[in-house]
Amino acid sequence: MKKIIIAIDGHSSTGKSTFAKMIASKLGFTFIDSGAMYRAVTLFAIEEGYIDNGDNIDTDRLKAALGRIEITCLNYPDGSSVTFLNDRNVEPDIRGLKVSSLVSPVSALPFVRDYVNILLRYYGTQDNSVVDGRDIGTVVFPDAPLKIFMTADASIRAKRRFDQMESKGEKADYEKIYKNVVERDYIDSHRAVAPLCKADDALVLDNSNMTVEDQLVWVDEIVQKRFGLKLS
Ligand code: C5P
Repeated sequence: MKKIIIAIDGHSSTGKSTFAKMIASKLGFTFIDSGAMYRAVTLFAIEEGYIDNGDNIDTDRLKAALGRIEITCLNYPDGSSVTFLNDRNVEPDIRGLKVSSLVSPVSALPFVRDYVNILLRYYGTQDNSVVDGRDIGTVVFPDAPLKIFMTADASIRAKRRFDQMESKGEKADYEKIYKNVVERDYIDSHRAVAPLCKADDALVLDNSNMTVEDQLVWVDEIVQKRFGLKLS
């Protein structure tokens, strides 16, 4: 039987991953984090020396080496997941600053996108899945039976990131964070390859004034109507 795909796209800092993980765990679906795959390819490129000190990417060598990469993701029933690069757990490394600052140019390379899309489509045939990313409902799974596009007011997203940093004891500057949120929205939606945009048939979830609980109630009603399933 064809597997169910729930595609979740949207702006940065809207809580996409948290939301996607929770839905997956509450439905017994697999959570697929496409960003983690782009991050794993980026880590590989850094470790193999394909990115120089000026952040220039040796695209020919990276392209030729892609056949040597094996990326796998392991999901746990509590909703957490771990990414493996050639059998090594790279979960902490792919979330670091170095990878975060280089993942955008790496993920903009068309051959990297083709590679990740093949992986995503393979995983999507294995199990019912909730897939989180930027182009899932538009490019990767255009036939997904449920597409959600998450957004929230930029000032609210900036405030959430500000609070998150403060709670971790990190120094935070609200104005800088706000500027970064607006800039990332612009870059994500204007890049040449697979720009972030809402699929015509995606449902918009503007969570500016919603708690996580409110969002789960919202999606529960939808999955009940669409698939006859209920969040546990
Ligand atoms: O979701 P996350 O922030 O981990 O994604 C890391 C980066 O990977 C994003 O900033 C974006 O540049 C890229 N990405 C993408 N397409 C996706 C998922 C992530 O281009 N489907």
